[in-house]
Amino acid sequence: MADGLLIVTEEVCAEVVSRAEAFTAVEAVFGAMASGDAYNFPVIREAIGYADALYGFKSGFDRAGKSLGLKSGGYWPGNADKGLTNHQSTIFLFDPDTGKLRALVGGNYLTAVRTAASSSVSIAHLAREDAKVLGMVGAGHQSTFQLRAAAEQRSFDRVVAWNPHPEMLPKLGAVAEELGLGFEAVSAEELGAQADVIITITSAFEPLLMAEWIKPGTHIACMGTDTKGKQEVDPMLLSRATVFTDEVAQSVSIGEAQHAVAAGHLKEDAITPIGAVINGDHRGRSTAEEITLFDGTGVGLQDLAVAAVAAKMAEETGRATTVAL
Ligand code: NAD
Repeated sequence: MADGLLIVTEEVCAEVVSRAEAFTAVEAVFGAMASGDAYNFPVIREAIGYADALYGFKSGFDRAGKSLGLKSGGYWPGNADKGLTNHQSTIFLFDPDTGKLRALVGGNYLTAVRTAASSSVSIAHLAREDAKVLGMVGAGHQSTFQLRAAAEQRSFDRVVAWNPHPEMLPKLGAVAEELGLGFEAVSAEELGAQADVIITITSAFEPLLMAEWIKPGTHIACMGTDTKGKQEVDPMLLSRATVFTDEVAQSVSIGEAQHAVAAGHLKEDAITPIGAVINGDHRGRSTAEEITLFDGTGVGLQDLAVAAVAAKMAEETGRATTVAL
């Protein structure tokens, strides 16, 4: 990277970071986390008592990928009325050799693309090869990114979807159609009966899918639960499934596993970091009938990994603004 501070806008991030590049970056950093080459620092998240906002930092260091920095941002519920996305974030990258600020990178598009890459990595490593039906629970901002990325991992022929707010589903249906996939809105129970792979990406605080609805052999990526108290699936499902995660410490504290662990249905040491599968230290799925569940809690190192790609690509293609420091 050239000397000086690189500024990479939201628009440029969307132009220079593809789903494939996000997948590669996220897969690599999950592997580095499992081998001890990369670690996340404790997350800070506070209600600031102003504009109903939640604000915080996710940060870490990847010694293998040489990424040091943080994502700063949060959730401003009043933004939609101002024509802005409720989630707002910016990623700061520092030179690990000197501590000098190297890049300021818009974090909104990157959050969506790295979160979709996370569930995609889990599908690539854990779903049955013959999966044909993708089940989508959730139809908000993240859901279309999730659908596009998942569709690239297996030869799906159709999508079944359910959302607590059914009026949001047509937007997801339009993306499925664009991808050449059949689309059907079904009940949550029917979704469980039909889907080979399920992604949950909602803001739910109670189980939306019951354990007995999920058929043997399913892979389920729980992506919405990223805060204490949130919940998308029946805790009993985590005792029936083989559970994987991005980071065990987050999985048991703010991820989907928090409820199953608290209720005694799942032991922390039964949760495997997906990086162990990526690195070849865990076999992943062991039978065609096994239910695999990925608890994608979202870690700062994912943000740094994709921001590093954005900074490099933007600089190489002359689309970053450089400011002398
Ligand atoms: P959004 O506001 O655009 O959509 C919210 C979704 O949740 C919709 O499907 C909506 O119908 C549903 N929903 C809203 N309130 C609900 C409730 N009380 N019960 C059940 N469902 C409810 O949000 P988004 O940007 O699509 O994000 C969805 C979720 O994903 C959020 O919880 C967000 O925090 C989480 N998220 C996780 C990661 C990660 O890395 N794991 C990253 C980004 C976002």
